[in-house]
Amino acid sequence: MNKIKTKIINFIQDNCLALYNKLFSSKYIIKGKCKKCGNCCRNILFSTDKGYIKDEKLFLDLQKKFRYYRNFKISGKIKDKQDFQNGALTFECKYINKNNRCRIYFFRPDFCKKYPKISSDLIYSGVKMLDNCGYYYEIDKKFEQYLK
Ligand code: SF4
Ligand code: SF4
Repeated sequence: MNKIKTKIINFIQDNCLALYNKLFSSKYIIKGKCKKCGNCCRNILFSTDKGYIKDEKLFLDLQKKFRYYRNFKISGKIKDKQDFQNGALTFECKYINKNNRCRIYFFRPDFCKKYPKISSDLIYSGVKMLDNCGYYYEIDKKFEQYLK
């Protein structure tokens, strides 16, 4: 009986928090302008339930299992010990051409259409724009302001 009671209380608390966050949490604002450098199509990160892909073998396995991953090739690795993404592999999409244009622009995936709009959870957990990107995120209410 106690277990059921705890479950019900947790359920109510979780939903109240989710509703509160939806109504009152601050939103991020995207500012700036695209420079059409193509870097966002050449520095893509993928994450699985175990975190960012850091291992070439894991990526090759994913390519075997899921056709979608065959659209990408490894373009580098994040090397910054201060960065929580340190060690993550970066990927280049095969549809970006030499002039930094998308070859499937009208049929590009939704994620590409929405970019640079990403989940606010990612932004609050420290994800930033790529270096030299023309866009930047601004949070309308800083964390310190909540503490006052
Ligand atoms: S990295 Fe930024 S500036 Fe460059 S193409 Fe992507 S969105 Fe535009
Ligand atoms: S599909 Fe087009 S917009 Fe999306 S990552 Fe590839 S080149 Fe970039």
